[in-house]
Amino acid sequence: MTIEEQKELWKQILTKLEPMMRSSDFRTWLKNTAILVLEHDTLTVGCPSEIVRTQLAAKHHDLIIKAAKKLNPEIAHIDYKVDISLAGGGERTISPGSIIGTIKRTMRREQVEGVKVSEILSTRVLNPDYTFDNFIVGAEDRLALAAAQAVADKPGRAYNPLFVYGGVGLGKTHLLQAIGNSILKKQKDKIVIYTTSEKFTNDVIGAIRGGIKKIEQLRNHYRKIDVLIVDDVQFFGNKKQTQEEFFHTFNVLREADKQIVLAADRPPRELIGIDERLISRFQSGMIVDVYMPPFETRVAILQKFAADENIALSGEILDLIANNVKSSIRDLRGAITQIAAHIMLSTQPGNEEWLPTKSNVIDILIKNGTKITVSKSASSELTESLRIDDFIHATAGYFQIDIKEIIGESRKKELANARAIAMWLARHELKYGFEKIGHAFGNRNHATVMHAIRKIDEETEREPNGSLAEQLKAIKRNTLEEKQA
Ligand code: ADP
Ligand code: MG
Repeated sequence: MTIEEQKELWKQILTKLEPMMRSSDFRTWLKNTAILVLEHDTLTVGCPSEIVRTQLAAKHHDLIIKAAKKLNPEIAHIDYKVDISLAGGGERTISPGSIIGTIKRTMRREQVEGVKVSEILSTRVLNPDYTFDNFIVGAEDRLALAAAQAVADKPGRAYNPLFVYGGVGLGKTHLLQAIGNSILKKQKDKIVIYTTSEKFTNDVIGAIRGGIKKIEQLRNHYRKIDVLIVDDVQFFGNKKQTQEEFFHTFNVLREADKQIVLAADRPPRELIGIDERLISRFQSGMIVDVYMPPFETRVAILQKFAADENIALSGEILDLIANNVKSSIRDLRGAITQIAAHIMLSTQPGNEEWLPTKSNVIDILIKNGTKITVSKSASSELTESLRIDDFIHATAGYFQIDIKEIIGESRKKELANARAIAMWLARHELKYGFEKIGHAFGNRNHATVMHAIRKIDEETEREPNGSLAEQLKAIKRNTLEEKQA
């Protein structure tokens, strides 16, 4: 099964699933999933994270297999596997939110046109999530967006072709699709084709196999297009016949003032294995680049992503992510998606509370298999900056008692208990010796401290999920949060 066929099958399964599930579950758990393989009777579904994998396998498997069987009765098993390359969305995944709308719209357009363009050209439907409105740029990098908007406003008359280049995950596909969506919104009768250089290549190969008539048919169909968007044209490299055909198509469309939009991972001059005459065509319009925006814009983008996911993150957390994730916008999105998934999971009954604190978020960034880089010491720096006083303070706050009482002489049970907890935290979190801890607690001796801490250890060993263990966790979290505040 080709990736395209996998995508199509998964899209159909999702379309069946959507009405069967709560829409928030559908969006949360099926986002960025994909089919990895279909082998014999087993379908392997790729999940962007462990959380998603567990959720799908544990809670939604019955519905998923039901939907899959409806489409392909041979499917008897479904395996769920984590594939972190899916985390930021991308080529293999389908946006669940867009499924129904896109399919309906494509059908309607084709009925109206009376031309089944997509029967001949393997087009890819536009993803309605990619719009100009949600493409965020800073004041200093508006050129690419402005050029794309100009093209969408006056197709064929502003810049032709528009050539967008830049590294992976920086928004090329988003911009290209936004152009297509924007044109279709204003001019429903336009034929907008979004395709990739690989798809175009397949069309050409198919047509060549079909003989002269097929080639003619392909050319005729391209002539009907008003806007041709071709993504990732670097893959035209070394494909002579495809380039030949594309050159032809390009000229026909250009002469008829039809809009052409192209994207690649590098500027036309640097493309490898591409004919000089094509390169000069690529250069004949407007060339713009997308790049990793500066810090402030990264924060704005993160805010937008967090709002999309319906989660609230403090300015400090947004700064932390923006400071460390410098690889791509896709990775910024990946970080937010994972935080959202953790929060969502923790609100379900029976699960442990998970808050987007600094240390939790750093954990996510560090664990992230995507190219997220974060200074590994950030987490330990925070812990290192903690002092015994921070734990005493948080413990007192938790039990609503006075700090003086915690370090004081009283042997009242609840005070002694709070005192032992604060000592235990100092011991485990700061690795302080008994001597030093005793000193901080009103000069208590080494044996007293040891005895208090051991009692806590014994109880938490006896009941690892008991109320004492919960208290320790909560106070530790409060300590970190107070420190960050
Ligand atoms: P590329 O095609 O350059 O590899 P994409 O267009 O697929 O990158 O972008 C990767 C992800 O980042 C997508 O989810 C996209 O919506 C998002 N994205 C990229 N640039 C921006 C931006 N400027 N504002 C908002 N989202 C963006
Ligand atoms: Mg792309």
